[in-house]
Amino acid sequence: MVITFQSNVTPEQLHAVEARLRDLGFQVVRAPTSGAIVLAAVGDGALPPVEEVRVMPGVADAVPIPEPFKLASRTFRHETSVLRIGDVEIGGTSIVLMAGPCTIESEEQMVRTAAAVRAAGARVLRGGAFKPRTSPYSFQGLGEEGLKLIRRVADQNGLLVISEIMDKSQIGLMERYVDILQVGARNMQNFSLLRELGKTQKAVLVKRGLSATVDEWLMSAEYVISGGNDRVIVCERGIRAYETYTRNTLDLNAVAVAKSLSHLPVIVDPSHAAGVRDKVVPLARAAIAAGADGLLVEVHYDPERAICDGQQSLFPEQFASLAEQLRQIAGAVDRRL
Ligand code: PEP
Ligand code: MN
Repeated sequence: MVITFQSNVTPEQLHAVEARLRDLGFQVVRAPTSGAIVLAAVGDGALPPVEEVRVMPGVADAVPIPEPFKLASRTFRHETSVLRIGDVEIGGTSIVLMAGPCTIESEEQMVRTAAAVRAAGARVLRGGAFKPRTSPYSFQGLGEEGLKLIRRVADQNGLLVISEIMDKSQIGLMERYVDILQVGARNMQNFSLLRELGKTQKAVLVKRGLSATVDEWLMSAEYVISGGNDRVIVCERGIRAYETYTRNTLDLNAVAVAKSLSHLPVIVDPSHAAGVRDKVVPLARAAIAAGADGLLVEVHYDPERAICDGQQSLFPEQFASLAEQLRQIAGAVDRRL
């Protein structure tokens, strides 16, 4: 249930409503809005009928939240959430480009790739230090050494850092180096990880699982928010379908659906969706046209020699030309780059 209060509500009236809901066993969360005070009551019990809450002193309105993802829903928060990290806004008018290699490999790789993506207009540097590889024999990432490297190179270029967290035991370590903690597709339903991420104040980007429905995806975001951290971004990265020309199938329906159901910023990763370099650019263009708030793109200064996902990594020139095209597309959908 979402409860909107009258502008002249007294602290005692507010407290009385909160106390009634808490007595019934509900978690009460205040929406981070600047206007009227808005509360959500969430929990698995039976809520009091909205009619009962509506007539409590100080209450302007009470409506049920039909979606299962209560705090991630637009019913709870009408305006799109704008996440501010340093001077970067995610979910605002400007679309945000996050770019870099699949995995952190070396100083030269990070220095050259970061400078190239920065020059093209990226604001966030990506690179995995812990990699969820399908084979246990594949390169698993540089770990803390990689995190130190990406942080240093990002700082030298005025970029933020996004990197994947695979396990809750890594939270303390990763918080020291990373601005956005990425939950990978394979970990989207690692509920103990999601719960722990609810206790951090870092931004969390939740990728959609390989075969997750939009409800399941947004419920994963809900885990983090209900745990106390509302700095959540969701990312569509392609789902598993029967087509074999591409690694996955980019589900732009999900972008449109998530944007209408949820206030969370929605990012698209066209690289893991396409899996092949020459398809990444058209998918990236389409994602921005469809209303995505930004992109997470794999770029490598020498993709032919990349340790991981080189076949889907853009050359720096391709990324620069994509960014130019996105400037025009963004303008056509009332956004900027
Ligand atoms: C990645 O971003 O490098 C990655 C492993 O992505 P996903 O979890 O979407 O497969
Ligand atoms: Mn990758």
